[in-house]
Amino acid sequence: MDGFATIIEPFRIKSVEPLRMTTAAERRALLRDAGYNLFALDADDVLIDLLTDSGTSAMSARQWSGIMRGDESYAGSPSWYRFKESVQRLFPFEHIIPTHQGRAAEKILFSVVGGPGKVIPNNTHFDTTRANVEHSGARAVDVVIAEGRVPSSRHPFKGNVDLDALRAVIEEAGPEHVPLVMVTVTNNSGGGQPVSLENLRAVRAVCDDFGLPLFLDGCRFAENAWFIREREPGQQGRAVPDIVRDMAALADGMTMSAKKDALVNIGGWLAMRDDELARQCREALILTEGFPTYGGLAGRDLEAIAIGLEEVVDEDYLRYRIRSTAYLADALREGGVPMVEPPGGHAVYLDARALLPHIPPLAYPGQALAVALYEEGGVRGCEIGTVMFGRHPDGSESAAAMDLVRLAIPRRVYTQSHVDYVIETVLRVAARASTLPGYRIVDEPPSLRHFTARFAPLA
Ligand SMILES: *Cc1c(COP(=O)(O)O)cnc(C)c1O
Repeated sequence: MDGFATIIEPFRIKSVEPLRMTTAAERRALLRDAGYNLFALDADDVLIDLLTDSGTSAMSARQWSGIMRGDESYAGSPSWYRFKESVQRLFPFEHIIPTHQGRAAEKILFSVVGGPGKVIPNNTHFDTTRANVEHSGARAVDVVIAEGRVPSSRHPFKGNVDLDALRAVIEEAGPEHVPLVMVTVTNNSGGGQPVSLENLRAVRAVCDDFGLPLFLDGCRFAENAWFIREREPGQQGRAVPDIVRDMAALADGMTMSAKKDALVNIGGWLAMRDDELARQCREALILTEGFPTYGGLAGRDLEAIAIGLEEVVDEDYLRYRIRSTAYLADALREGGVPMVEPPGGHAVYLDARALLPHIPPLAYPGQALAVALYEEGGVRGCEIGTVMFGRHPDGSESAAAMDLVRLAIPRRVYTQSHVDYVIETVLRVAARASTLPGYRIVDEPPSLRHFTARFAPLA
């Protein structure tokens, strides 16, 4: 909006969900009962839930009316055609294969192209992507630029692929063992950092040199396109859908979780140009997801995605979306709270190891900070650090590369005063950081321990 400093939420609220207030004493008891694991809390006991931006979007009145319009015909439903057209307006791939979420698309793709001896390069594999690549017997290799691994580096496109590293991985494996190259936009596991169009073009050129297809992990394609528009020379003021189509034109296919940038609560798709690959993927789809015109979804879900894809590329929406994340980061930076810089599109990542230097990584500073944020203000974030990554298949444990707490912002859910409250909560915890205890694990499963481990504070 011309000349205004305040970027407002570009929507008003028609239906509300009450938040349940709790006292600090109640939260301390709930934490004890939950074994200090925030995944074990009831969502009703959380005031501001920043655990994830996945599947937590608020849908618009138009999407809800689309839900009623959804046609549940088994084959060839009009909702399927509306979904397909909406996807293809942004991503003009010949074949669109609906799935119930992103990992289902990954499972199908890698069960067809993966397998022992194969290597998949990606800027940074998201954890389900890596798991599906590895489950097929293939190897997942991350080739993000060096700046993408340094929390304090303010490179504008920290999600970019390291082109030399990509070439080296392909040459070492042999191109015949690399079924495709993937680029994740934005780079979720690397802090929600964008990839530039220039870098995507260069990745395309490397793929062409070796005759390899390029696939996008497109979960946050619209946020990535907005960062291109804001930060990449020559891109200012361009229409977001045009930037998205430029990204798509460089690729041969994509996997997608609609739970992110399609503004819905469930859904995804797999897309590609290649007819034979599509045939094989559809066969796999029918085994585990459903008929090719609905995949793992109801007609009403397809309808909500079709509409969400129109809303997510709206400039006013994206300006508000990226600004609301930056607003949280700006206030915390001003308050001296260390974090991954610059903030990504969907989340702010607090640097718990830097904030809590008295807690060694094996006493889980990320867990300590996440617990303290809940205790202080009922705010739920997510430890991304030694609890999540520290235990190895051989049973040993070591410090993760970083100890972070991710505050992921659900789309269109919280207002600026909610974010102000989060800021106050973090600053209050930061002010007493030196008094926070570390934790030890009293019970943990053999794998993916962050979901179910129980903790106890160190004296
Ligand atoms: C969420 C996500 C996925 C997996 O999608 P689900 O819908 O959760 O299965 C894959 N890649 C990235 C980058 C993601 O953020």
